[in-house]
Amino acid sequence: MKDIILLKQGEIVLKGLNKKYFEQRLAANAAKRLKPYGKFHIYTIQSTVYVEPLDDEADMDAAFAALQTLFGVISLTRAAACEKNAEAIAAKAIAYLAGAMERARSFKVETRRSDKQFPMTSIQLSQYVGGALADAYPQVKVDVHAPELTVNVEVRDLAAYVHGDPVRGAGGMPVGCNGRAVTLLSGGIDSPVSTWMIAKRGVHLIPVHFWSFPYTGEAAKEKVISLARQLTDWCGTMRLAVVPFTHIQEEIRDKCPEEYFTILMRRFMMRIADRIAVDNGCSALVTGENLGQVASQTMSAMAVTEAVCTLPVLRPLIGFDKQEIVNLSRKIGTFDTSTLPYEDCCTVFTPRHPALRPTVDKALEAEAPLDVEGLVEEAVMGTDYVKL
Ligand code: ATP
Ligand code: MG
Repeated sequence: MKDIILLKQGEIVLKGLNKKYFEQRLAANAAKRLKPYGKFHIYTIQSTVYVEPLDDEADMDAAFAALQTLFGVISLTRAAACEKNAEAIAAKAIAYLAGAMERARSFKVETRRSDKQFPMTSIQLSQYVGGALADAYPQVKVDVHAPELTVNVEVRDLAAYVHGDPVRGAGGMPVGCNGRAVTLLSGGIDSPVSTWMIAKRGVHLIPVHFWSFPYTGEAAKEKVISLARQLTDWCGTMRLAVVPFTHIQEEIRDKCPEEYFTILMRRFMMRIADRIAVDNGCSALVTGENLGQVASQTMSAMAVTEAVCTLPVLRPLIGFDKQEIVNLSRKIGTFDTSTLPYEDCCTVFTPRHPALRPTVDKALEAEAPLDVEGLVEEAVMGTDYVKL
């Protein structure tokens, strides 16, 4: 008999009439995520998603690990299957939960019966299994009010299942249920985290990277591709847009006042990201900006850069401390790649004294010598897509 995996829905349970839509999205995302690990039957009953392997080929360890990064799941459990009789259930609980019973100081058993033909009531079965566990692990006390470990027994149509306490899921909402957005992905620490935060809220993301070859080399591009690939563990499959940015940066360097270099470069990034977003049916842009972190992330600098956008700019890290961002980056697994020592196009042509109080009027004046529309068009046309 095969183990199964139970996923508890997160915020979906608070939804009203459109709940079915969110549930279907979660089940579809789970199916997609599990594709590499075997064939599974996935269905939802009362806010729990059941993941049943269809044959013995399924890699249950890998499947369980993959589902821990599935947004929309608040907790998950791996349950062992056994025959539907009290002795078999008790024997399974004793063997399957040995580790958890040895760690706990107190426990209780909780039973759910969807097969109402089963000859014992839920309470009787809980008492029976509880007694067997207490005999097998005499050092663990029964405590029905505040147990350290809850042993769960489910009697279902085809089999009975035994499981211990669930582990924490990724939380958030199923990716895709809240629309699409473009995320500006550099090779730094911040933007992978901002991407992750918006994906967590159920948004499908299209990462866009601005690449200034040869000022930023192949290695810098490969770094961003691997960051984006790592993010697919959470965000699902994505297409990374790599935008050629060299010509724009050279034009700014040659024709514009140095104190506006960074601001003008960022205005171009936002314009191009906005174009790609609109072309791909997205409703917002996402950046890893953080208030006051650098001169280009003051309130006035952000006002000047976002003035060129038609879509809202989401900045999920705006109020975070650097350490909080670093902690998240370690948690989601991007930190080690982010801190590889490759340059980013932002560090090419950095002004010695960036404008401290930039304004839209001065930015317009500074970029007046440039063919803004033409440069944007050229960059959008030259964009390459990498499937992840
Ligand atoms: P990060 O760690 O994400 O690079 P940062 O603190 O270094 O952020 P900046 O370099 O000022 O900040 O960039 C601010 C934001 O602009 C980034 O978080 C990212 O969203 C976007 N960005 C910067 N450079 C690029 C790039 N080369 N390609 C795509 N987006 C970029
Ligand atoms: Mg950066």
